Amino acid sequence: MREPVQARVDLDAVRANVALLRDRAAGAEVMAMVKAEGYGHGLVETARAALDGGAAWLGVARVAEALRLRAAGVTAPVLVAVATQGEPYEEAVAAGVDLTVGSAGLVARIAAAAERAGRPARVHLKADTGLSRGGATMADWPSVVDAAGAAQASGRIEVVGLMSHFACADEPGHPSIAGQLAAFREAVEHAEKAGLRPQVRHLANSAATLTLPEARYDMVRPGIAIYGLTPIPQQGTFGLRPAMTLAAELAAVKRVPAGSGVSYGHTYVTARETTLGLVAAGYGDGVPRHGSSLLEVLVGGRRHRIAGRVCMDQFVVDLGDDAPSAGDEVLLFGPGDHGEPTAQEWADALGTISYEIVTRIGTRVPRVYPGGPAGR
Ligand SMILES: *Cc1c(COP(=O)(O)O)cnc(C)c1O
Repeated sequence: MREPVQARVDLDAVRANVALLRDRAAGAEVMAMVKAEGYGHGLVETARAALDGGAAWLGVARVAEALRLRAAGVTAPVLVAVATQGEPYEEAVAAGVDLTVGSAGLVARIAAAAERAGRPARVHLKADTGLSRGGATMADWPSVVDAAGAAQASGRIEVVGLMSHFACADEPGHPSIAGQLAAFREAVEHAEKAGLRPQVRHLANSAATLTLPEARYDMVRPGIAIYGLTPIPQQGTFGLRPAMTLAAELAAVKRVPAGSGVSYGHTYVTARETTLGLVAAGYGDGVPRHGSSLLEVLVGGRRHRIAGRVCMDQFVVDLGDDAPSAGDEVLLFGPGDHGEPTAQEWADALGTISYEIVTRIGTRVPRVYPGGPAGR
């Protein structure tokens, strides 16, 4: 391998995962969520692969991400699914980027940006149906609908969507799910009575896309599943294929005596004479320091645990009497085909979710697309 550490992204897996989700969406459109650099897999490449796989829409969290997609020539509809106050709305409107709105105040600001941009802003009204995060509470929803209706009548905005987001879709049967479905139904009915009949109503994330047919409406918004990671680990993989393999070089191998303290703080001490391997990846690359003496990696076809503390640029494994060579490849996580851990396995060991494992892979790590870049 030419890079000391690289994240290999299998875009065929992304395409296949999107095709599977599209199937499960049963006629609803798919908005592929590619925020946070495509959950660490690369913004533009995964967006293109998702479109190849049958997604019609893309979703991001920041206007800057949407503008990068436009600059790369992506013409599909793109929604900035998170509303913040200080975004460059005029640029977004000029680039034909869809914006999420959850308050009458934001409707007014975006309408003003649309006037400056000289074209109507495309917006999705977001209802807070129970997550208590973004979006208008049920109490404020009528005022947002009224403001949006008025701005649409004056030609400054076009209401393209009505949306919400689940709190507990990854816990099938959780009592909040039925409540959120009912609240969304009410929010949609209210908007329709007020004369808003937008193109798309949407609230399903990956977990809901896979388990809640009644949440599909006109469009689903899967994120994690596109990258092949399960949104509900207790229910298995749903046939999804993990797209990312994190690989690093075995930079050095050396024999050390029993009683050798390993890495900062000497939190690991060799029990006997052994071979240590130095792996060229650290927390500067996104390997969690909490994984010190905990996470396993695949070296020379065998699992070995990280020995002692993860450093910024490297960590050590205790190879015992295994004798791989310096320059060999170490698999940190991947689909598991060769016996390497999966991102889900790392997440379980660390008490976090797979989302965080892949999204935290650092900007220093090159994303490599072995099958070549996506075609559109
Ligand atoms: C991130 C995000 C999603 C995707 O969630 P997953 O659990 O990754 O499928 C869907 N909708 C919104 C608004 C999001 O921010």
